[in-house]
Amino acid sequence: MSTPAAPAVEKNDFIRQIVRDDLAAGKHARVKTRFPPEPNGYLHLGHAKAICLNFGIGREFAGLANLRFDDTNPAKEDPEYVEAIKADVRWLGFEWSELRHASDYFLAFYLAGEKLIRDGKAFVCDLSAEQVREYRGNLTESGRDSPFRTRAVEENLDLFQRMRAGEFPDGARTLRAKIDMASGNINLRDPALFRIKHVEHQNTGAEWCIYPMYDYAHALSDALEGITHSLCTLEFEDHRPLYDWSVDNVDFPNHPELWSYLPGRGFPTVPSKPRQIEFSRLNINYTVMSKRKLLTMVTEGLVNGWDDPRMPTLQGIRRRGCPPAALQLLADRVGISKQNSLIDFSVFEGCIRETMDAQAPRRMAVVEPVKLVISNLPEAHEESLTFNNHPKNEDFGTRSVPFARELWIEREDFMEVPAKGFHRLVPGGEVRLRGVGIVKCIEVVKAGDTIRELHCTLDPESRHGLPGADRKIKGTIHWLSARHAVPTEIRLYDRLFTVPDPDRDEDGRTYRDCMNPDSVRIVRGYVEPSAAQLAPESGIQFERLGYFCADRHDHRPNAPVFNRTVTLRDSWAKPA
Ligand code: ATP
Ligand code: MG
Repeated sequence: MSTPAAPAVEKNDFIRQIVRDDLAAGKHARVKTRFPPEPNGYLHLGHAKAICLNFGIGREFAGLANLRFDDTNPAKEDPEYVEAIKADVRWLGFEWSELRHASDYFLAFYLAGEKLIRDGKAFVCDLSAEQVREYRGNLTESGRDSPFRTRAVEENLDLFQRMRAGEFPDGARTLRAKIDMASGNINLRDPALFRIKHVEHQNTGAEWCIYPMYDYAHALSDALEGITHSLCTLEFEDHRPLYDWSVDNVDFPNHPELWSYLPGRGFPTVPSKPRQIEFSRLNINYTVMSKRKLLTMVTEGLVNGWDDPRMPTLQGIRRRGCPPAALQLLADRVGISKQNSLIDFSVFEGCIRETMDAQAPRRMAVVEPVKLVISNLPEAHEESLTFNNHPKNEDFGTRSVPFARELWIEREDFMEVPAKGFHRLVPGGEVRLRGVGIVKCIEVVKAGDTIRELHCTLDPESRHGLPGADRKIKGTIHWLSARHAVPTEIRLYDRLFTVPDPDRDEDGRTYRDCMNPDSVRIVRGYVEPSAAQLAPESGIQFERLGYFCADRHDHRPNAPVFNRTVTLRDSWAKPA
């Protein structure tokens, strides 16, 4: 598998323009971004856009890009996800500058909380979650100050320390920022910074029983890592004032006492004042892209696990056979903007076809076989024919394909009573066998209604390479030597949903009700010997059938398994 190639044309979206301008103005010595997944599920197609953006900018501007696990919500997080996310980022062709966890900074977040208290900018609040909601107001009504807002600094410090020491039960108290209960932006109405949660953490064990809230932890992590441009999706636009408030009021660059222990622990910290910039999410129809829904599909057994080749997870897409370069192409094609849009699934499939067309060697396979016997060849006839591995690229070289008297062809390539416009094999008719010559069907051997064998004669004048080979004939079909073909499991995948908007829950309908019953069909077929030998994950085009991939887990040379990645053409396009 190849990694995404360097872009031929310079990308020029609004974020890259900001980065370019900032560098030209000498604002930063070096650009630094981060990709900050929460390890509470597997990454999906949407995350690929954020990965290509963050790591892409790091690479294009000779800067840095971190992978940071935003692990501030211990109850839902799991090391299994951490490992999968690392593998996914690498599979996409990227390597992080530093691997970080928000939990690396829990102490700094805590010390920053104490600083905010000392500065009169945070207080310990005893309101229950329900009371906090009541006091918060809504879009039309401003909120009311918490009765605990005026607590003395000393009392706040004491209570915050005791929260940390585990003296209070879950939910009894929070540390809240003191901002503005009348703000038009509800995120600024004294948001919580820390909550009590007596839960062990995958990284810090039982060390903490208070955990920072997302907005606060996210902003401070960016600042501590020296992130210059913090790129996130549009739903965080309303959170930007709180992001900036946290960065500005904690002010790490001027307060090394809050983080100076970190370098000693192997975290080379050069705090910055990061800038948050939002871009639109990737939305694709015919799929769902929420970790929560994907998790439900797995736990309810609607699919076979996270890496089911029908899943929009990166693990699923990978197992399906999509090359990483196709995701890079998708990210480039969709581009970066602030406009929300819905991308047609066919755009994604088009990126896979385009990438695989260039990358995948050609082979022959027969999915639904019927036997074709060439009666004018001797029983023991055997030849080795040379085929190009790629029609447009000689670098792929050639291979030998065994040819003999008995062949497998596709059942679909023969019609006993031909429909109008059918140009393949019919009784008494002729067709070209790819790379061999022209055969004529002289007999159809049946048992009841079932076709057992098609007996044909091969026109010796029409053999490949002879002058007669140019004889005009309408159809060309592929074939395999029955004696040499390797029996194969072929998994024909299709879209998982039948409607463009499975994500929209309405009239009691959910995505569960729109699953495509034909999203997978497993058949027994045959492949040529050189296809069986391919390594797992090799991408390939089976001529006339589609793009396939040797299954990552189940494929063996003596028991091959191929997944259909995508058909050769868009069969979902509106019928003419
Ligand atoms: P989900 O909504 O599926 O649960 P999430 O946004 O909660 O995903 P995170 O782990 O928080 O998942 O996401 C990590 C990063 O990936 C964030 O910066 C987020 O903005 C980005 N991201 C998530 N989904 C998309 C998407 N559809 N398009 C672009 N970026 C995305
Ligand atoms: Mg999230």
